[in-house]
Amino acid sequence: MSVKFGSSGIRGIVSEEITPQIALDFGLAIGSIYHEVVIGRDPRVSGKMLESAVVCGLLAAGSKVVKIGMVPTPTLAIASRNFDCGIMVTASHNPAEYNGMKVFKKGMSFDSKDQEEIEHLLNEKKWSFAKWEKTGNVSENGTALREHTDIILKNIKNAKLKVVVDCGCGAASVITPYLLREMGCQVITLNSQPDGHFPGREPEPMDETLGSLKIMVKTAGGDLGIAHDGDADRMMAVDNQGRFVTGDKMLAFFAVREAKKTIAVPVDTSRVIDDLLDGVKISRTKVGDVYVAEELKRIGGDFGGEPSGAWIFPGISLCPDGIYAAARLVELVNREGDFGDLLDDIPDYPVKRGAFPCSDRHKAMSGISRQLGKLGAINTLDGVRVDMEDGWVLVRPSGTEPKIRITVESMNRCDELYKMAEDIVKGEIK
Ligand code: MG
Repeated sequence: MSVKFGSSGIRGIVSEEITPQIALDFGLAIGSIYHEVVIGRDPRVSGKMLESAVVCGLLAAGSKVVKIGMVPTPTLAIASRNFDCGIMVTASHNPAEYNGMKVFKKGMSFDSKDQEEIEHLLNEKKWSFAKWEKTGNVSENGTALREHTDIILKNIKNAKLKVVVDCGCGAASVITPYLLREMGCQVITLNSQPDGHFPGREPEPMDETLGSLKIMVKTAGGDLGIAHDGDADRMMAVDNQGRFVTGDKMLAFFAVREAKKTIAVPVDTSRVIDDLLDGVKISRTKVGDVYVAEELKRIGGDFGGEPSGAWIFPGISLCPDGIYAAARLVELVNREGDFGDLLDDIPDYPVKRGAFPCSDRHKAMSGISRQLGKLGAINTLDGVRVDMEDGWVLVRPSGTEPKIRITVESMNRCDELYKMAEDIVKGEIK
Protein backbone atom coordinates (compact mmCIF):
# COMPACT_ATOMS: atom_id res chain seq x y z
CA MET A 1 0.00 0.00 0.00
CA SER A 2 1.39 3.38 -0.89
CA VAL A 3 1.78 5.80 1.98
CA LYS A 4 0.81 9.41 1.50
CA PHE A 5 1.20 12.44 3.73
CA GLY A 6 -1.99 14.43 4.18
CA SER A 7 -1.91 18.07 5.26
CA SER A 8 -1.10 16.85 8.79
CA GLY A 9 1.16 13.84 8.26
CA ILE A 10 0.08 10.20 8.07
CA ARG A 11 -3.23 9.23 9.62
CA GLY A 12 -5.76 6.38 9.51
CA ILE A 13 -7.61 3.67 11.41
CA VAL A 14 -5.24 1.61 13.54
CA SER A 15 -4.57 -1.97 12.39
CA GLU A 16 -6.35 -1.27 9.09
CA GLU A 17 -4.54 1.69 7.52
CA ILE A 18 -1.96 2.43 10.23
CA THR A 19 -0.20 -0.84 11.07
CA PRO A 20 2.91 -1.56 13.13
CA GLN A 21 4.61 -2.39 9.81
CA ILE A 22 3.93 1.11 8.48
CA ALA A 23 5.16 2.63 11.75
CA LEU A 24 8.34 0.55 11.57
CA ASP A 25 8.96 1.56 7.93
CA PHE A 26 8.24 5.16 8.86
CA GLY A 27 10.91 4.98 11.60
CA LEU A 28 13.39 3.45 9.14
CA ALA A 29 12.68 6.16 6.54
CA ILE A 30 13.00 9.04 9.02
CA GLY A 31 16.05 7.43 10.65
CA SER A 32 17.89 7.10 7.36
CA ILE A 33 17.83 10.91 6.96
CA TYR A 34 17.66 12.30 10.51
CA HIS A 35 20.12 11.23 13.18
CA GLU A 36 18.80 12.82 16.37
CA VAL A 37 15.07 12.38 16.80
CA VAL A 38 12.64 13.29 19.60
CA ILE A 39 9.34 11.42 19.84
CA GLY A 40 6.12 11.98 21.80
CA ARG A 41 2.57 10.64 21.73
CA ASP A 42 -0.96 11.60 22.71
CA PRO A 43 -2.94 9.29 25.06
CA ARG A 44 -4.50 7.10 22.32
CA VAL A 45 -4.78 3.41 23.21
CA SER A 46 -2.56 2.48 20.24
CA GLY A 47 0.03 5.17 21.05
CA LYS A 48 2.59 3.04 22.86
CA MET A 49 2.33 0.27 20.25
CA LEU A 50 2.96 2.64 17.34
CA GLU A 51 5.61 4.61 19.21
CA SER A 52 7.50 1.35 19.91
CA ALA A 53 7.41 0.40 16.24
CA VAL A 54 8.58 3.86 15.08
CA VAL A 55 11.39 3.84 17.66
CA CYS A 56 12.45 0.36 16.54
CA GLY A 57 12.73 1.62 12.94
CA LEU A 58 14.69 4.69 14.02
CA LEU A 59 17.13 2.59 16.04
CA ALA A 60 17.55 0.08 13.23
CA ALA A 61 18.48 2.96 10.93
CA GLY A 62 21.04 4.15 13.49
CA SER A 63 19.31 7.20 15.01
CA LYS A 64 19.66 8.53 18.50
CA VAL A 65 16.16 8.76 19.98
CA VAL A 66 14.80 10.70 22.95
CA LYS A 67 11.30 9.80 24.16
CA ILE A 68 9.39 12.59 25.92
CA GLY A 69 6.30 10.51 26.65
CA MET A 70 2.66 11.59 26.58
CA VAL A 71 2.69 15.29 25.63
CA PRO A 72 0.68 17.71 23.48
CA THR A 73 1.81 18.21 19.87
CA PRO A 74 2.88 21.86 20.47
CA THR A 75 5.11 20.63 23.34
CA LEU A 76 6.77 18.11 21.01
CA ALA A 77 7.14 20.80 18.31
CA ILE A 78 9.03 23.06 20.73
CA ALA A 79 11.21 20.14 21.91
CA SER A 80 12.05 19.36 18.26
CA ARG A 81 14.02 22.64 18.00
CA ASN A 82 16.92 20.85 19.70
CA PHE A 83 16.86 17.82 17.38
CA ASP A 84 17.10 17.03 13.66
CA CYS A 85 13.51 15.85 13.66
CA GLY A 86 10.47 15.48 15.95
CA ILE A 87 7.79 12.80 15.58
CA MET A 88 4.39 13.01 17.26
CA VAL A 89 2.30 9.84 17.35
CA THR A 90 -1.22 11.29 17.20
CA ALA A 91 -4.40 11.47 15.18
CA SER A 92 -5.11 14.98 16.48
CA HIS A 93 -8.90 15.54 16.64
CA ASN A 94 -9.92 12.26 14.96
CA PRO A 95 -11.94 9.61 16.86
CA ALA A 96 -10.27 7.06 19.17
CA GLU A 97 -9.76 4.32 16.56
CA TYR A 98 -7.47 6.57 14.49
CA ASN A 99 -3.79 7.24 14.95
CA GLY A 100 -0.88 8.50 12.89
CA MET A 101 2.31 10.51 12.81
CA LYS A 102 2.99 14.24 12.52
CA VAL A 103 6.56 15.27 11.79
CA PHE A 104 8.47 18.42 12.75
CA LYS A 105 11.78 19.99 11.88
CA LYS A 106 13.16 22.87 13.97
CA GLY A 107 9.77 23.46 15.58
CA MET A 108 7.76 23.49 12.35
CA SER A 109 5.79 20.88 10.46
CA PHE A 110 7.61 19.22 7.58
CA ASP A 111 7.20 21.23 4.39
CA SER A 112 6.08 19.52 1.19
CA LYS A 113 9.68 18.87 0.07
CA ASP A 114 10.53 17.11 3.35
CA GLN A 115 7.29 15.13 3.12
CA GLU A 116 7.93 14.01 -0.45
CA GLU A 117 11.41 12.83 0.50
CA ILE A 118 9.98 10.56 3.22
CA GLU A 119 7.05 9.43 1.03
CA HIS A 120 9.51 8.43 -1.68
CA LEU A 121 11.62 6.42 0.76
CA LEU A 122 8.53 4.75 2.22
CA ASN A 123 7.06 3.77 -1.09
CA GLU A 124 10.35 2.59 -2.62
CA LYS A 125 11.46 1.05 0.69
CA LYS A 126 14.85 2.65 0.08
CA TRP A 127 16.71 2.39 3.32
CA SER A 128 19.43 0.26 4.76
CA PHE A 129 19.83 -1.15 8.26
CA ALA A 130 22.68 0.22 10.32
CA LYS A 131 25.52 -2.24 11.01
CA TRP A 132 25.19 -3.88 14.41
CA GLU A 133 27.64 -1.54 16.10
CA LYS A 134 25.92 1.52 14.61
CA THR A 135 22.34 0.77 15.69
CA GLY A 136 20.89 3.64 17.67
CA ASN A 137 20.13 4.20 21.31
CA VAL A 138 17.10 5.52 23.13
CA SER A 139 16.69 7.56 26.30
CA GLU A 140 13.82 9.27 28.08
CA ASN A 141 13.46 12.89 29.08
CA GLY A 142 10.67 14.25 31.26
CA THR A 143 11.37 17.98 31.07
CA ALA A 144 9.49 18.95 27.88
CA LEU A 145 6.22 19.89 29.62
CA ARG A 146 8.07 22.10 32.09
CA GLU A 147 10.03 23.80 29.31
CA HIS A 148 6.87 24.51 27.31
CA THR A 149 5.11 25.83 30.44
CA ASP A 150 8.04 28.13 31.26
CA ILE A 151 8.15 29.58 27.72
CA ILE A 152 4.44 30.43 28.02
CA LEU A 153 4.68 31.87 31.53
CA LYS A 154 7.56 34.10 30.44
CA ASN A 155 5.30 35.66 27.80
CA ILE A 156 1.99 35.86 29.67
CA LYS A 157 0.84 37.98 32.61
CA ASN A 158 -0.92 36.48 35.61
CA ALA A 159 -4.73 36.39 35.60
CA LYS A 160 -7.27 35.93 38.36
CA LEU A 161 -10.16 34.34 36.50
CA LYS A 162 -12.39 31.35 37.07
CA VAL A 163 -11.75 29.08 34.08
CA VAL A 164 -13.40 25.77 33.20
CA VAL A 165 -11.06 23.56 31.14
CA ASP A 166 -12.26 20.59 29.07
CA CYS A 167 -9.24 18.66 27.80
CA GLY A 168 -11.40 15.98 26.17
CA CYS A 169 -9.22 13.40 28.00
CA GLY A 170 -6.49 14.31 25.51
CA ALA A 171 -2.87 15.36 25.92
CA ALA A 172 -3.73 18.83 27.27
CA SER A 173 -4.81 17.11 30.50
CA VAL A 174 -1.17 17.12 31.63
CA ILE A 175 -0.50 20.80 31.05
CA THR A 176 -3.34 23.31 30.57
CA PRO A 177 -5.05 23.06 34.00
CA TYR A 178 -1.68 23.28 35.79
CA LEU A 179 -0.45 26.18 33.65
CA LEU A 180 -3.61 28.22 34.24
CA ARG A 181 -3.30 27.60 37.99
CA GLU A 182 0.29 28.83 37.87
CA MET A 183 -1.03 31.97 36.18
CA GLY A 184 -3.24 32.56 39.21
CA CYS A 185 -6.58 31.28 37.89
CA GLN A 186 -9.15 29.20 39.70
CA VAL A 187 -9.44 26.14 37.46
CA ILE A 188 -12.33 23.69 37.23
CA THR A 189 -11.60 20.66 35.05
CA LEU A 190 -13.74 18.43 32.87
CA ASN A 191 -12.42 15.37 31.01
CA SER A 192 -8.91 16.13 32.22
CA GLN A 193 -7.64 12.63 32.91
CA PRO A 194 -5.73 11.30 29.86
CA ASP A 195 -7.74 8.41 28.41
CA GLY A 196 -7.32 7.14 24.84
CA HIS A 197 -10.90 5.91 24.73
CA PHE A 198 -11.99 9.58 24.91
CA PRO A 199 -14.86 8.63 27.22
CA GLY A 200 -16.04 12.19 27.95
CA ARG A 201 -16.59 13.48 24.41
CA GLU A 202 -15.28 13.18 20.87
CA PRO A 203 -11.77 14.69 20.60
CA GLU A 204 -12.79 17.43 18.15
CA PRO A 205 -13.86 20.54 20.11
CA MET A 206 -17.05 21.73 18.41
CA ASP A 207 -20.37 23.25 19.44
CA GLU A 208 -21.96 19.77 19.34
CA THR A 209 -19.27 18.08 21.46
CA LEU A 210 -18.92 20.73 24.18
CA GLY A 211 -22.35 20.49 25.85
CA SER A 212 -20.93 19.71 29.30
CA LEU A 213 -18.45 22.59 29.12
CA LYS A 214 -21.16 25.08 28.14
CA ILE A 215 -23.32 24.01 31.10
CA MET A 216 -20.40 23.96 33.54
CA VAL A 217 -19.15 27.45 32.65
CA LYS A 218 -22.62 28.84 33.20
CA THR A 219 -23.52 26.97 36.38
CA ALA A 220 -20.10 27.49 37.99
CA GLY A 221 -20.11 31.19 37.10
CA GLY A 222 -16.90 30.84 35.10
CA ASP A 223 -15.32 33.74 33.22
CA LEU A 224 -14.71 31.46 30.25
CA GLY A 225 -14.32 27.84 29.17
CA ILE A 226 -11.40 26.32 27.29
CA ALA A 227 -11.51 23.13 25.18
CA HIS A 228 -8.77 21.23 23.36
CA ASP A 229 -8.61 18.48 20.76
CA GLY A 230 -6.81 15.17 21.36
CA ASP A 231 -3.28 16.50 20.88
CA ALA A 232 -3.95 20.10 22.03
CA ASP A 233 -2.68 21.94 19.00
CA ARG A 234 -6.25 23.25 18.86
CA MET A 235 -8.13 25.40 21.36
CA MET A 236 -11.75 26.46 21.26
CA ALA A 237 -13.66 28.50 23.83
CA VAL A 238 -17.00 29.03 25.55
CA ASP A 239 -17.95 32.49 26.84
CA ASN A 240 -19.21 33.40 30.32
CA GLN A 241 -22.81 33.01 29.12
CA GLY A 242 -22.13 29.39 28.16
CA ARG A 243 -22.07 30.14 24.42
CA PHE A 244 -19.71 28.28 22.13
CA VAL A 245 -17.39 30.72 20.36
CA THR A 246 -17.32 29.87 16.66
CA GLY A 247 -13.96 29.41 14.96
CA ASP A 248 -14.45 32.48 12.79
CA LYS A 249 -15.28 34.62 15.83
CA MET A 250 -12.32 33.26 17.80
CA LEU A 251 -10.06 33.95 14.82
CA ALA A 252 -11.34 37.53 14.56
CA PHE A 253 -10.97 38.00 18.34
CA PHE A 254 -7.30 37.03 18.25
CA ALA A 255 -6.56 38.70 14.91
CA VAL A 256 -7.70 42.19 15.93
CA ARG A 257 -5.49 41.97 19.01
CA GLU A 258 -2.39 40.37 17.46
CA ALA A 259 -2.26 41.88 13.96
CA LYS A 260 0.13 44.74 13.38
CA LYS A 261 1.11 44.47 9.72
CA THR A 262 0.32 41.03 8.30
CA ILE A 263 -1.60 37.89 9.18
CA ALA A 264 -2.19 34.61 7.34
CA VAL A 265 -5.49 32.72 7.20
CA PRO A 266 -6.79 29.94 4.97
CA VAL A 267 -9.09 30.46 2.01
CA ASP A 268 -12.14 29.21 3.98
CA THR A 269 -12.01 32.09 6.48
CA SER A 270 -14.88 34.55 6.94
CA ARG A 271 -14.79 37.99 5.29
CA VAL A 272 -15.36 39.49 8.75
CA ILE A 273 -11.61 39.54 9.13
CA ASP A 274 -11.17 41.74 6.02
CA ASP A 275 -13.74 44.19 7.36
CA LEU A 276 -12.29 44.36 10.89
CA LEU A 277 -8.61 44.68 10.04
CA ASP A 278 -8.11 48.01 8.38
CA GLY A 279 -4.61 48.52 7.08
CA VAL A 280 -3.48 44.95 7.81
CA LYS A 281 -2.38 42.75 4.95
CA ILE A 282 -4.27 39.45 5.01
CA SER A 283 -2.53 36.61 3.22
CA ARG A 284 -4.80 33.69 2.26
CA THR A 285 -3.44 30.16 2.05
CA LYS A 286 -4.53 26.61 1.31
CA VAL A 287 -6.55 25.04 4.14
CA GLY A 288 -4.28 23.36 6.70
CA ASP A 289 -2.30 24.87 9.55
CA VAL A 290 0.91 23.72 7.84
CA TYR A 291 0.27 26.12 4.95
CA VAL A 292 -0.63 28.96 7.32
CA ALA A 293 2.63 28.38 9.23
CA GLU A 294 4.70 28.31 6.02
CA GLU A 295 3.12 31.57 4.88
CA LEU A 296 3.72 33.21 8.27
CA LYS A 297 7.36 32.25 8.08
CA ARG A 298 7.62 33.57 4.52
CA ILE A 299 5.98 36.95 5.21
CA GLY A 300 7.12 37.37 8.82
CA GLY A 301 3.46 37.60 9.86
CA ASP A 302 2.14 38.59 13.29
CA PHE A 303 -0.52 35.93 13.67
CA GLY A 304 -2.22 33.13 11.79
CA GLY A 305 -5.12 30.85 12.40
CA GLU A 306 -7.76 28.53 11.13
CA PRO A 307 -11.45 28.51 12.09
CA SER A 308 -10.95 24.85 13.08
CA GLY A 309 -9.22 26.09 16.26
CA ALA A 310 -5.54 26.16 15.25
CA TRP A 311 -3.95 29.45 16.32
CA ILE A 312 -0.35 30.33 15.46
CA PHE A 313 1.53 32.99 17.41
CA PRO A 314 4.90 33.18 15.60
CA GLY A 315 6.59 34.87 18.59
CA ILE A 316 6.06 31.62 20.51
CA SER A 317 5.97 28.85 17.91
CA LEU A 318 5.21 28.17 14.27
CA CYS A 319 3.25 25.09 15.35
CA PRO A 320 -0.35 25.85 16.37
CA ASP A 321 -0.23 25.92 20.16
CA GLY A 322 -3.56 25.35 21.90
CA ILE A 323 -1.91 25.66 25.30
CA TYR A 324 -0.40 29.07 24.59
CA ALA A 325 -3.67 30.13 22.90
CA ALA A 326 -5.56 29.23 26.11
CA ALA A 327 -3.15 31.21 28.27
CA ARG A 328 -3.22 34.20 25.91
CA LEU A 329 -7.04 34.18 25.80
CA VAL A 330 -7.21 34.09 29.60
CA GLU A 331 -4.73 36.98 29.79
CA LEU A 332 -6.78 39.05 27.30
CA VAL A 333 -10.11 38.41 29.03
CA ASN A 334 -8.53 39.23 32.40
CA ARG A 335 -7.31 42.54 30.97
CA GLU A 336 -10.35 43.55 28.93
CA GLY A 337 -13.32 42.31 30.94
CA ASP A 338 -16.55 40.42 30.16
CA PHE A 339 -15.75 37.84 27.45
CA GLY A 340 -19.32 37.68 26.13
CA ASP A 341 -19.44 41.47 25.69
CA LEU A 342 -16.08 41.47 23.90
CA LEU A 343 -17.37 38.82 21.49
CA ASP A 344 -20.58 40.73 20.87
CA ASP A 345 -18.45 43.57 19.47
CA ILE A 346 -17.49 41.25 16.58
CA PRO A 347 -20.19 41.05 13.90
CA ASP A 348 -21.69 37.69 13.00
CA TYR A 349 -21.36 36.78 9.34
CA PRO A 350 -23.47 33.72 8.60
CA VAL A 351 -21.17 30.82 7.68
CA LYS A 352 -22.29 27.27 7.02
CA ARG A 353 -19.95 24.30 6.76
CA GLY A 354 -20.53 20.66 5.91
CA ALA A 355 -18.71 17.52 4.75
CA PHE A 356 -19.72 14.63 2.50
CA PRO A 357 -18.00 11.23 2.27
CA CYS A 358 -16.35 10.72 -1.11
CA SER A 359 -13.91 7.99 -2.13
CA ASP A 360 -12.70 9.53 -5.43
CA ARG A 361 -12.23 13.17 -4.49
CA HIS A 362 -10.17 14.00 -7.56
CA LYS A 363 -12.86 12.84 -10.01
CA ALA A 364 -15.67 14.50 -8.06
CA MET A 365 -13.78 17.81 -7.84
CA SER A 366 -13.39 18.16 -11.61
CA GLY A 367 -17.18 17.92 -12.09
CA ILE A 368 -17.80 20.25 -9.14
CA SER A 369 -15.32 22.75 -10.53
CA ARG A 370 -17.10 22.82 -13.91
CA GLN A 371 -20.46 23.47 -12.27
CA LEU A 372 -19.25 26.13 -9.83
CA GLY A 373 -17.45 27.89 -12.70
CA LYS A 374 -20.86 28.77 -14.12
CA LEU A 375 -21.56 30.97 -11.08
CA GLY A 376 -18.61 33.32 -11.36
CA ALA A 377 -14.85 33.62 -11.40
CA ILE A 378 -13.23 30.71 -9.59
CA ASN A 379 -10.20 30.70 -7.31
CA THR A 380 -8.36 27.37 -7.16
CA LEU A 381 -5.85 28.07 -4.37
CA ASP A 382 -7.43 25.09 -2.58
CA GLY A 383 -10.44 23.34 -4.06
CA VAL A 384 -12.74 25.76 -5.84
CA ARG A 385 -13.92 29.06 -4.38
CA VAL A 386 -16.45 31.27 -6.12
CA ASP A 387 -16.83 34.83 -4.86
CA MET A 388 -20.08 36.67 -5.47
CA GLU A 389 -21.15 40.14 -4.44
CA ASP A 390 -23.14 38.92 -1.44
CA GLY A 391 -21.07 35.91 -0.42
CA TRP A 392 -18.81 33.07 -1.43
CA VAL A 393 -18.82 29.27 -1.78
CA LEU A 394 -15.81 27.01 -1.29
CA VAL A 395 -15.83 23.31 -2.15
CA ARG A 396 -12.64 21.40 -1.44
CA PRO A 397 -11.35 17.89 -0.84
CA SER A 398 -10.37 17.30 2.81
CA GLY A 399 -6.63 17.01 3.40
CA THR A 400 -7.02 14.38 6.12
CA GLU A 401 -10.20 12.37 5.39
CA PRO A 402 -12.01 10.91 2.33
CA LYS A 403 -14.49 13.76 2.32
CA ILE A 404 -15.51 16.79 0.28
CA ARG A 405 -16.03 19.92 2.38
CA ILE A 406 -18.35 22.84 1.68
CA THR A 407 -18.02 26.29 3.23
CA VAL A 408 -20.51 29.04 2.43
CA GLU A 409 -20.71 32.60 3.72
CA SER A 410 -23.41 35.07 2.84
CA MET A 411 -25.26 37.79 4.74
CA ASN A 412 -28.62 37.18 3.11
CA ARG A 413 -28.68 33.79 1.42
CA CYS A 414 -26.34 31.47 3.29
CA ASP A 415 -28.83 28.58 3.37
CA GLU A 416 -29.75 29.03 -0.28
CA LEU A 417 -26.11 29.02 -1.44
CA TYR A 418 -25.30 26.08 0.81
CA LYS A 419 -28.21 24.06 -0.62
CA MET A 420 -27.01 24.82 -4.13
CA ALA A 421 -23.45 23.73 -3.31
CA GLU A 422 -24.74 20.64 -1.53
CA ASP A 423 -26.81 19.64 -4.61
CA ILE A 424 -23.77 20.06 -6.86
CA VAL A 425 -21.54 17.99 -4.55
CA LYS A 426 -24.15 15.25 -4.06
CA GLY A 427 -24.65 15.08 -7.82
CA GLU A 428 -20.92 14.51 -8.40
CA ILE A 429 -20.11 12.03 -5.61
CA LYS A 430 -22.87 9.52 -6.33
MG1 MG B 1 -4.85 18.47 16.74
